[in-house]
Amino acid sequence: MGRSTLEVIRRHPELFQVAALSTGSSVDALEKLAVEFDPCLVAVADPAALERRPDLVDAGWLCGPDSLLQLAALDHADIVVNAVVGAAGLRPTIAALECGKRCALANKESLVAAGDLVLTAARQGGGELVPVDSEHSAILQCMGGARPGEIRRIILTASGGPFRGTDAEALGKVTAGMALQHPTWNMGAKISIDSATLANKALEVIEAHYLYGLPYDRIEVVVHPTSIVHSFVEFVDGSILAQMGEPTMELPILHALTWPRRATDPSLCTFDPIKWSPLAFEPVDEERFPLFGLGVAAGRAGAAAPAVFNAANEVAVTAFLQGAITFTGMSEVVESTLQGLDGRTANTMDEVVLADYDARRLAADEVSRRQ
Ligand code: MG
Repeated sequence: MGRSTLEVIRRHPELFQVAALSTGSSVDALEKLAVEFDPCLVAVADPAALERRPDLVDAGWLCGPDSLLQLAALDHADIVVNAVVGAAGLRPTIAALECGKRCALANKESLVAAGDLVLTAARQGGGELVPVDSEHSAILQCMGGARPGEIRRIILTASGGPFRGTDAEALGKVTAGMALQHPTWNMGAKISIDSATLANKALEVIEAHYLYGLPYDRIEVVVHPTSIVHSFVEFVDGSILAQMGEPTMELPILHALTWPRRATDPSLCTFDPIKWSPLAFEPVDEERFPLFGLGVAAGRAGAAAPAVFNAANEVAVTAFLQGAITFTGMSEVVESTLQGLDGRTANTMDEVVLADYDARRLAADEVSRRQ
């Protein structure tokens, strides 16, 4: 996501300048990008990743998870693109919003883990959340100037992932390598697995609930394998608007940076309706993809349940990528963790952090029991 953002910025030097760059642990790649974009701050979230490069620390590179907060609060930056993976993105999101910045949010886990706290930070700090997620970008574009009472429902589209046509028995045997082959979107490992299990779509339902203030029974999901329609908004008069485009993240990234205006970008103007005809839609199969229902139920339950779902899912995805559990084992780990931590509250950041911590510990226990 970060690389796609920089690709967009490369094409629009007249509009954007990079003030700061960060990485989790990809130090070599970041070093090249720092030479190209010449930011005034560079940060590496994982301290271990800088251990063999004292020269970069000497050159002023920041290090550790808290360095992301410094970047997010950087004085002369207007927009923070948060593409951190997982709940680790929460504090940078809040820091950016508290400083009154636009947070172009590619880290949906921020809203899932602590939606109310994120919205409070935006309100109090004067910051604004603009989604980078393609579905939520679509909804923002379709809503235009509609008032909340004029929206009947939103329908998020889901590609269905690489196992849309795989039967339940075969799902138990799919490998991480197979799950990383997404049919339409080219993405990082975590979100590719989330797309394969449809956990990603549950996270997006929760994200939409907070971004657009809609109750869960007015947020629906439909599978749309070619990912051309990025989502629908249905208005109270029965009119439905959809936003469409080729499946590239560069479009929602550019939109998040320029909203509510639009920038000219011929390289994104490639749509051919004939190529994509006919458009097809089908229902979500919740039996084969139980993480979808578990995630939406956690969203409906509220309090700490979405944070627990998210943390347990992160642990399960890592375990699956390492070959420690099966594809179907991921939903079992998440379900047991949710049951074990039922009823937790999440009214403060401390409670969110504790729920996240306990969920990771319990999920790790559940992973070990399955090995
Ligand atoms: Mg999405």
